[in-house]
Amino acid sequence: SFPADVVPQAPEDPLFGLMRAYKADQSKDKIDLGIGAYRDNNAKPWVLPVVRKADDIIHNDPNLDHEYLPIAGLASFTSKAREIFLGAASPALKDERVTSVQTISGTGAVHLGALFLAKFYKGNRTIYFSNPTWANHKQIFDNVALPTATYPYFDKKTKGLDFEGMKKALQDAPERSIILLHACAHNPTGVDPTEAQWREIASIMRQKSHFPFFDSAYQGFASGDLERDAGAVRHFVEQGFELLVAQSFAKNFGLYGERAGCLHFVTAPGPSAKEDTARIASQLAILQRSEISNPPIYGARIVSTVLNDDKLFAEWRDNLREMSGRIKDMRQALRSKLEALGTPGTWNHITDQIGMFSFTGLSEQQVLKLRDEFHVYMTKNGRISMAGLNTSNVDYFAKAVDKVVR
Ligand code: PMP
Repeated sequence: SFPADVVPQAPEDPLFGLMRAYKADQSKDKIDLGIGAYRDNNAKPWVLPVVRKADDIIHNDPNLDHEYLPIAGLASFTSKAREIFLGAASPALKDERVTSVQTISGTGAVHLGALFLAKFYKGNRTIYFSNPTWANHKQIFDNVALPTATYPYFDKKTKGLDFEGMKKALQDAPERSIILLHACAHNPTGVDPTEAQWREIASIMRQKSHFPFFDSAYQGFASGDLERDAGAVRHFVEQGFELLVAQSFAKNFGLYGERAGCLHFVTAPGPSAKEDTARIASQLAILQRSEISNPPIYGARIVSTVLNDDKLFAEWRDNLREMSGRIKDMRQALRSKLEALGTPGTWNHITDQIGMFSFTGLSEQQVLKLRDEFHVYMTKNGRISMAGLNTSNVDYFAKAVDKVVR
């Protein structure tokens, strides 16, 4: 059997525990700033209008069936998915040195990439994450038995990027290490390198022959601009890197539960690039087959319907601007309210940071006080989901922060 010393009781996932506590709280003032999903100004989930349209189109198709997808997924989905982050004019696409596999959203893409590296990577097999990073990264790489390490990322003093620390760690890592990078809207800090900093990071990684693994969970959701949010990945591709990209459509399409994502492998340019890509594709297909056989169809159909229609595509961009715009407004509102209250400390980081999350700099003690006395639910590391704020509760939240900080 499986006694407790062999299978010990595991702790509850902290985010899900937080969600339960929030649900049980009866206060009318309660605020959920834990959840990593977009909420509209009424604190409700938002089905993107363009997704509703795509839904109608799909359901009115008389030829719709529920057959298996191919192992690599829906080609009309994966081919457009890579086009939006690489850019339609990308040399990598022109040279046919990109291979794509549809995955179980971003998590599945990170996992499949990890599995591929575990099986085939011959450089330094340690994968380096930012400190901190999305909590799931370590578990995913532990599962495929790749050693993990971290590089400095968040500077507690400035609540911005510890760029010197990060560069030094990349320099000091053994050559050909695997470096995991957040393409944009870093989770949990909301801190991204600037364009110039990305160029420096790429240049160090080039010198050290590191292998970049981009996790792209927020393209278009961060700045509202698909091109801008893909800028880092595109720069690396232009520099001729061989790399992996895990792409999620959970946030930017609001398709959280549908599990629509892709893993893309970009081969370095060269005379055999096309053949090399085909070899890699053949192995990814075997890994995919043994893990999930073939991916789920519905979310991919929605995204494909939108990305392959010019009008719907333009509408999606509008929807993205609406989500990212509301979040930026909340950042502005929170910062200016804290500054107007004269809350001790500096609050520029609230608007300097980008995307779904902000690392507020609040201590664990302050976080617990916010929960116990003000019914505000956020993770102990001081991270807030900006989407949980709206015009009805931002004032209450700012006042609560002001009280616990003093
Ligand atoms: N990577 C990061 C950094 C994330 O924040 C998320 C979403 N929380 C994911 C990957 C994957 O999410 P999903 O599997 O829902 O696409």
